[in-house]
Amino acid sequence: MTPSELPFLFYFGEGANKRRIPLSHTPFTVSRCQYERAQSLQAPFQSLVRRIIEERHLLEDICQALSPTDDFVRHLYEIWRSCPKNEITLDVFRSDYMLHCARGRGGGQEGEVSTEERMQLKQVELNTISVSFAHLSSLLSRLPSAEPVVRHEADKSICNAFLQALNLYSSTSVAIMVISPTEANLQDQLGLIELMGGRMFRLTWEEIRQRVKRAEDQRSETQDPDMKANAKVNVNVNALSFTADDNNDGLVSRKGPIKLFLDDSSTPIGLVYYRTGYDPSQYAGHEDWQVRRILEASDAIKVPDVGAHLAGLKRVQQALTVPGVLERLLGEDLMTIRQLRSSFMRIYSLDPTVPQAKEAIKLALAQPTNWVVKPQREGGGHNIYGEAIVRFLQETPPTHLSNYILMERINAPVRPALLLRGSEGDPPRLEDCISELGIYGIQLCMHGRTLINEPVGHLVRTKRATQDEGGVVMGGACLANLLLVEPERTFDKS
Ligand code: ADP
Ligand code: MG
Repeated sequence: MTPSELPFLFYFGEGANKRRIPLSHTPFTVSRCQYERAQSLQAPFQSLVRRIIEERHLLEDICQALSPTDDFVRHLYEIWRSCPKNEITLDVFRSDYMLHCARGRGGGQEGEVSTEERMQLKQVELNTISVSFAHLSSLLSRLPSAEPVVRHEADKSICNAFLQALNLYSSTSVAIMVISPTEANLQDQLGLIELMGGRMFRLTWEEIRQRVKRAEDQRSETQDPDMKANAKVNVNVNALSFTADDNNDGLVSRKGPIKLFLDDSSTPIGLVYYRTGYDPSQYAGHEDWQVRRILEASDAIKVPDVGAHLAGLKRVQQALTVPGVLERLLGEDLMTIRQLRSSFMRIYSLDPTVPQAKEAIKLALAQPTNWVVKPQREGGGHNIYGEAIVRFLQETPPTHLSNYILMERINAPVRPALLLRGSEGDPPRLEDCISELGIYGIQLCMHGRTLINEPVGHLVRTKRATQDEGGVVMGGACLANLLLVEPERTFDKS
């Protein structure tokens, strides 16, 4: 595979809108032990999310604090409060990391491999909704390569988990992938659809309104398990709109779980996988929110359910760094607490009612380049860096500051990489870059029992060191492969 062939393998959009996905020809090199550390954090982070949802208090407090000034969080919180608990949950997460060289200890220069063991793996964020690039990064890792890059099949593992979850729901059920009508990352989604072998359908909110039907589950009225299994579902499926039984506030009736069907009553929907809905702009209006509410109130497995969506808020990530919070959630499991905490950067809430906020603002104003300000949003392009932080802190009304967190900037090692970006025909260019390693993971739980909880592959995004944001779709970050080096051995002189 030559560099010039690659652009045609990876692309955004289709037809006239087709454009190449930026790629790095230089794999990101990390030591095997850093990679294994990142992998070993995945299961604990994933079970922590389930713990946060069960415990409720942390998430309730955060949602209540954010709701007055954040309509998006308020909508999600209302749905979370009104929805029944699902017996089966499936999580497809990605935890993103960078290597961090503590400032003042050298580091941050080219050729850092020998000092890598002194660097620490730090979490950028935990993505709980719509994690993307599992297919394209798997594909990239499996291309012929001169170097022994780490191959993986995150896409297959994720789809196997979808199929396993669907079969737990029922052997005839299908899944829907909720998509935006203007999706750029089409190729990545279509890769998963293909692996699902006809059991997953891509639908926009609008298409869901047209094709998905609802029926109240009659089986829930009996407690006898045999009767429950054999009783007929009410086949009078209705259009996917609110019924008279649903609450005037737009909350869905809690009389019995809602069952969903695609087109007619012979095709039950067992799983709803969101590849949109993580940003307010992805809901055109009240009608799209109604669809989200009905999907969440149904007994289909949601990937993620609204609780897990909320647990991915950056304000939750910040709360976990507060002394005592992990202990409250995880109890005596000190090993796990220490392991998770070692990946945290300093993060503060900017909520003026929180005692540490004043101190945090002082720190940021004193050295703005050491910090990143982040709102409660996903998808890239929202963060504030460097000198812009000063203006932001001076101009934002205190009541709105509660929507933001302040995170210490990760000081990632800078290394040269050959990037293929820009327009078609542009040659690859050697640039000083930093890389971000994402670990995909799946977690399947049923009746409180964990059936699967494991890492399933990775994503590397490499960007120019001068560039703040790291998104592939939004920014100029490039997909890359991963190369492991064995840690250097020290001779035992005794
Ligand atoms: P989003 O939800 O928009 O993806 P992220 O927290 O992942 O938000 O931030 C977007 C990008 O900004 C990251 O991919 C990373 O490149 C950069 N970034 C975020 N936090 C930090 C940090 N603490 N230090 C350095 N870079 C960061
Ligand atoms: Mg991110």
